[in-house]
Amino acid sequence: MDFKGFTTRLVHADRLLNKPEDGAVHQATTNSVLFEYQQVEDLVDVFQGRQNGHAYSRQSSGSINALQNMLAAMEGGVAALTFATGMAAITTTLLTLLRQGDHLILSQFLFGNTNSFANTLRGLGIDVSLVDVTDVKQVEAAIQDNTKAVYLETIANPVTQVADLQAIGTLCEQHKLVYMVDNTMTPAYLFDAKAAKASLLVGSLTKYIAGHGNVLGGAVIDTGLYDWQQFSNINPAFKSQPVEMWGITQIKKKGLRDMGGCLTPDSAHLISVGMETLGLRMEKCCNNALKLATFLASHDKVDKVYYPGLSDHPQHQLSRQLFKYYGGILSVDLKPGLDCFAFLNKLKLVLNATHLGDTRTLAIPVADTIYYEMGAEQRSRMAISDNMIRFSVGIEDIEDVVDDFKQALDAI
Ligand SMILES: *Cc1c(COP(=O)(O)O)cnc(C)c1O
Repeated sequence: MDFKGFTTRLVHADRLLNKPEDGAVHQATTNSVLFEYQQVEDLVDVFQGRQNGHAYSRQSSGSINALQNMLAAMEGGVAALTFATGMAAITTTLLTLLRQGDHLILSQFLFGNTNSFANTLRGLGIDVSLVDVTDVKQVEAAIQDNTKAVYLETIANPVTQVADLQAIGTLCEQHKLVYMVDNTMTPAYLFDAKAAKASLLVGSLTKYIAGHGNVLGGAVIDTGLYDWQQFSNINPAFKSQPVEMWGITQIKKKGLRDMGGCLTPDSAHLISVGMETLGLRMEKCCNNALKLATFLASHDKVDKVYYPGLSDHPQHQLSRQLFKYYGGILSVDLKPGLDCFAFLNKLKLVLNATHLGDTRTLAIPVADTIYYEMGAEQRSRMAISDNMIRFSVGIEDIEDVVDDFKQALDAI
């Protein structure tokens, strides 16, 4: 399959890549947990990897494999695994690749739940350093003899810091570190993770990829760039596979199979369908976000707008190089003294809700909700102010969204 266009490839992927039966354009979804074999030798061959097939749906099934194929193809990777949620993908990947005594470099600007999970890793004897990933020098300074991986997000939430993705990729390559990139905010339509030398892409399918707020899912995708022979934690049992499959095989066997956080076939189908319009939705929501950010930046009741598309953003130039557009997330501080709850309660179209990457525009006051648990000290390290509001801009007609912001700002 060799089409130039991102959306051309996606809307025909099920049909061409997964070859469903009977001329169906979507891979059939079955809820069968078990798979019967007439000849028991075939069942044995499936178990021992000599024959392709499904044995038990915790490990694989038709619509799961179809989605995994689409994800790997979209990111130009060698293989993908899907999970029940983004957090299941992230935690499973880290737990199956790292061991007691290893060191992990993490971004200090992380999704709250991933940040919280760092403490679980510390409790298991994995040493974790939190660093400012907008500066490659800080990442380099944190490298130790036992460092195994660097883990970061492309555009951080909610302050929109942009990691120095390319430079950190080169650094990881030099030091033979696994470069794990959570690209939930910037799926392939926006960002070429392979060009930035990412080893593993992890993150949520719930957000932009599925897009419609009706299904949870997560994935890990191996770009094929990392040489797993350099990684000392691969279980010898998995080394019968081709080298590029060692990492993903360990995550699959030790993680998906043993830990069991699998996606359901129905969810895989919903995600595949949502994903067909990823390019159209990203185009619309990123353009909307830039227009809304520009409007808010010039409004006299708004103190500060955080959006990589604005020329005063600290990583604006870097973002121009890295991304096709600047993403759909922006945050604001209202002018001191203005009541951000009053403003949020005046919004009529925009929803007060957590979640992001939805077709609808969403708003949330971050210090009191998603970053409440981490406390004031860490919030200040992440540059989160007490009154900050985060918006996930949807695909509505932007005039309606701007009008809603106008009337709510006028009312306070
Ligand atoms: C939402 C999110 C996750 C977790 O994904 P779920 O599907 O909600 O578990 C991980 N990373 C980032 C950057 C996210 O925004």
